[in-house]
Amino acid sequence: MIVLVLNSGSSSLKTALADTSGAGRIVGRASAERIGEPGADYSSHEDAFLAALDTLQCQADVRAVGHRFVHGGERFREAVVIDDAVEAEIRTLIPLAPLHMPHHLKGYAAARRLLPGRPNVAVFDTAFHATIPPEHHLYAIPPRYHDDHGIRRYGFHGTSHRYVTGRYAALRGGAPEEFRLITCHLGNGASVTAVDRGRSIDTSMGFTPLEGLVMGTRSGDLDPAVVLYLIRDCGMQPDAVDALLNRESGLAGVSGLSNDMRTLCQAADAGHAGARLAVAMFCYRARKYIGAYLAALNGADGVVFTGGIGENAAGIREGICGGLDALGIRLDPDANRAAAGTEALISRPDSPVEVRVIPTQEELVIARDTAQTTYGLR
Ligand code: ADP
Repeated sequence: MIVLVLNSGSSSLKTALADTSGAGRIVGRASAERIGEPGADYSSHEDAFLAALDTLQCQADVRAVGHRFVHGGERFREAVVIDDAVEAEIRTLIPLAPLHMPHHLKGYAAARRLLPGRPNVAVFDTAFHATIPPEHHLYAIPPRYHDDHGIRRYGFHGTSHRYVTGRYAALRGGAPEEFRLITCHLGNGASVTAVDRGRSIDTSMGFTPLEGLVMGTRSGDLDPAVVLYLIRDCGMQPDAVDALLNRESGLAGVSGLSNDMRTLCQAADAGHAGARLAVAMFCYRARKYIGAYLAALNGADGVVFTGGIGENAAGIREGICGGLDALGIRLDPDANRAAAGTEALISRPDSPVEVRVIPTQEELVIARDTAQTTYGLR
């Protein structure tokens, strides 16, 4: 079955055409950037969508459209066909992800108009984490803040963590229910998840994607009193603190150089002090989370690296796993160095915990969920 997958952002529209038969594969892609900006090629998401349909020449073949939605709140625990009632429920979640959800809905509106009669399915980044139990997903504040305001840890990147979980099991010739895994999605945004026999039981991102690891431009974990101090004692406005922590921190902020890990690895090798510090902080934070999740899972069968950094940056994988041999994680240096952008086993044969690189395929998961949700097809 042919499914069109849409990832609609504030000024971008990424589309992928998937054939879900067999193991499934992506058969075409088209994307537009800077939508609506001065001098851009497209003035609206609908224009960009029309151009993508033209590029992909798929109008007649597409049987359903799958949409990436960052946030499913507590309501959406799995993919769902979007109708008016579902759309209204999705709208109530806009305050939880105001920078993403309205733009996802623009993609949905464009698909409804330009591909009439085709079912649209919402696939949520949070859904895989719906299994995280309350003692792991609640913050230790009075429950009314959860009950009245939805304040809890939701987790993100779920589609990616779910894909690599399934793929890891397939590579081991088993089912996800047989393994305890720590999955590391390391890209511009980054998160680590503890997967207990196929179910997410903890993840490093929280109420928003700001919590957890050091990221391209996000600070990750931080004492919340720092925020109060910046506002009360340093005279910063809340919006400025938001910009500081989400856009001016992380690898970019610490290094003073770049949010791009490839640039930082090169600069660190050349002796740039800021780049070295940023890389060291990135690796240390990831190592701490892996250690925490080894405790949460009472040991793990495997650690998986994915995302642009996880798939390609051997030095970072080494920096993260290098100090974990006492916990049963022993990298094979040659296999690690050789692994770039393809599936690879990178731990030594005697390593109690297997370490693998598995390139993520979020679009394929969205396409499969869409086929499954609409027609019960794979
Ligand atoms: P996004 O979260 O935007 O989807 P990606 O998953 O594509 O991001 O990851 C982007 C990150 O991956 C960037 O920091 C980039 O520098 C890094 N990256 C890609 N290839 C390499 C490499 N060979 N070495 C180090 N970092 C790399």
